[in-house]
Amino acid sequence: MTPARGTASRTQAARDGDATTVSSMLEAIPFPCAAFNRGDGGLAAANRSYRDAFGGLDGHDDRARLLASLSGVDDDSPASPHEVNAPHSNRWYALHWGIAEIAGATLDMLTAVDISARIEALDSHKSRQEKLLFTSRLMSVGEMAATLAHELNQPLAAIVNYLNGSLRLVDQAGGPVQVERALVAARTQAEHAAAVISRVREFVRAREPRRDAHDVAQITGTVVELLRLEAERLQLRIELALAADLPPVHADRVMVEQVLLNLVKNAIEAMREVPAAQRGLRIEGRVNLDGEVEVRVCDRGEGLSEEQGRQLFSPFFTTKSDGLGIGLAICRSIIEYHEGRLFFEPREGGGSVFGFTLPPAEGRG
Ligand code: ADP
Repeated sequence: MTPARGTASRTQAARDGDATTVSSMLEAIPFPCAAFNRGDGGLAAANRSYRDAFGGLDGHDDRARLLASLSGVDDDSPASPHEVNAPHSNRWYALHWGIAEIAGATLDMLTAVDISARIEALDSHKSRQEKLLFTSRLMSVGEMAATLAHELNQPLAAIVNYLNGSLRLVDQAGGPVQVERALVAARTQAEHAAAVISRVREFVRAREPRRDAHDVAQITGTVVELLRLEAERLQLRIELALAADLPPVHADRVMVEQVLLNLVKNAIEAMREVPAAQRGLRIEGRVNLDGEVEVRVCDRGEGLSEEQGRQLFSPFFTTKSDGLGIGLAICRSIIEYHEGRLFFEPREGGGSVFGFTLPPAEGRG
């Protein structure tokens, strides 16, 4: 009996020793590693990276419980690698399984390689693609509407002409009155359809820019009026600081209004999260050293990092979950079309300044 007890306790000690050896070996590996007993699936050893990512289970069926806790796993065969999201670290790993024979025991060895960077790059590529698709779809809807309107306009005009001709013939022949009434009703419907089509055309037609002399105070007034309710709702003050002697600018009024509207809207959005007392928006207008008219929209939002500042005007750059990131890129093309410059600078005391320059109208036709 005694020798048998001695053998059993030596075996246990040997097993403990093996587990310690395996643990210290795993600890030397810089990514998550664990060893599971082949028989009961219990965790025999795991390094710290493994515990940080997947938690430290130690009982029976640890392997089965681990696999059940991972999203992205489709089968629990220890043979194939899987790409999974680890619940504790919320990072992505590729799992690789292998078999190790240590002191007569069979262990299933798990190593996990961090693939988060690849998954994130894929995700951001996918969302850029989706946005591109969305914009191109928006454009094609516009083009489709324009083409349809153009195609339908001609036959509708012809229908109205034929109906007018028929009405004249019926009139010359002196009746019958029911036919005349039916023709008048048909003409009214055709004219109605033509009016709908022409409204669609008006809506989707790319407007030819028209540059004249315009007062910046008037443009600013229109934009502030459009956003007044939104500003009131956010208890946000809009302060106007336009130089009294600001000369008129040579510009397409609607286009410049669009640019200013976009900048002021972005400024309001940037201040959504700051305390109400800080929410001040200031629109400045002055003539700069180059003699251009400069309009500046100054907010007290979070501001932008240097890196963000560099990417700001590239199409599809956005930090908003529902943003498209094309507003500033469009503003820049509009301002450059006007021979001006769209710019960003950090605001002294916190926040951002987004502004643009425009040539004065003086001396231009
Ligand atoms: P969107 O508003 O759809 O994101 P924009 O092109 O108008 O597209 O803006 C691009 C990005 O520029 C925004 O997502 C935001 O990160 C940044 N931005 C623009 N205006 C401001 C501002 N006033 N303060 C801070 N960040 C801004």
